Amino acid sequence: MARAWVDISLDAVAANVRALCERVAPAAVCAVVKADGYGHGAVPVARAALGAGATWLAVAQVPEATALRAGGISAPVLLLSEPRPDEVEEALAARIDVTLHTAALIAALGHAAAARPSGSPPVKVHLKVDTGMHRVGAAPADIVALAHLVQAHPHLDLRAVWTHCAVADEPERPETARQLECYEACLSDLAAEGITVPLRHAANSAAALLHPASRYDLVRCGIAIYGISPAPSREVDLLLTPVVRLATEVSFVKPVAKGEGISYGHRFHTERDSVIATLPIGYADGVFRRLGELGQEVLIGGHRYPMVGVVTMDQLMVDVGPHSAVRAGDEAVLLGAQGDERISPEEWAVRLGTISYEVVCAIGARVERRPLSS
Ligand SMILES: *Cc1c(COP(=O)(O)O)cnc(C)c1O
Repeated sequence: MARAWVDISLDAVAANVRALCERVAPAAVCAVVKADGYGHGAVPVARAALGAGATWLAVAQVPEATALRAGGISAPVLLLSEPRPDEVEEALAARIDVTLHTAALIAALGHAAAARPSGSPPVKVHLKVDTGMHRVGAAPADIVALAHLVQAHPHLDLRAVWTHCAVADEPERPETARQLECYEACLSDLAAEGITVPLRHAANSAAALLHPASRYDLVRCGIAIYGISPAPSREVDLLLTPVVRLATEVSFVKPVAKGEGISYGHRFHTERDSVIATLPIGYADGVFRRLGELGQEVLIGGHRYPMVGVVTMDQLMVDVGPHSAVRAGDEAVLLGAQGDERISPEEWAVRLGTISYEVVCAIGARVERRPLSS
């Protein structure tokens, strides 16, 4: 028995992908499985997503693409950032679509592509334009020149020009519409030069769900396929099915008298005689240290009980009350449902002042992933 485990409902992933496909049609869905599928396991999530109607996958780094191919996945994979120069060969070997936005990498990829055996298919290039995120991407004024550079290489094929939205999760803000205007101006500039762009994409989950104009030909959805709403929205919550259930077993239970300090620093003192349960999961497993001080609850026997004292690296304490029936060996749920109660990644995120993306990505390598499907 693992000390802590996270059940990953692949049925829920599939349901989320089907809901997105329906919502964004005729645009296609690209399932973003970077960072080991936001901590859920890239290969099983990718398979579930493709089985449910996604036609593309995306990753952030070349080794993540290699891992998908090693997992037997042959669907189109988009690399969302330029490869490092020393990863160009690996990117070619993985037969992926490559994001480019600099002349230097266009030259490097064109050169490496030309060195492959004759008859190799052209490498598909997605030129990235920065319309306002200011992370990576070409300046809009440079996009035509870069497209010409790609076209000058016989072994490169310009498949897409794309951009990324910075504030799509706040639908009332005006920047998204401005970014899309800028993007469309780039597409017009390219068209005026006789350059056709077969594939246009701009939307992450928030844009795909909340800004229909951003859908174009393809939407790149990460967080939504993991059942997490990219923005507070009752309507989106209803569309999505939760995927993760992070659990462990109570390892130890003991009475603690009123006024005793609990955990490092004794930052918490019992206000009454009570019973303290210990769980064998800590911040090394992704349960943020501060959650204990903040009194985040866990589920045991279908009831909510607060964490007390700071979370330690490997263990945390829970006040289960003076007359508790909680015993060592009982299941404790940190994220997900037990009985009629549910704790969502959003609940942690709100408490911590972060976003649910960070919560699920933080689930540690020591926690056993259990992909489940019916
Ligand atoms: C991570 C990422 C996505 C997916 O974003 P979500 O908000 O998780 O849907 C899409 N596009 C790019 C460029 C990304 O880096």
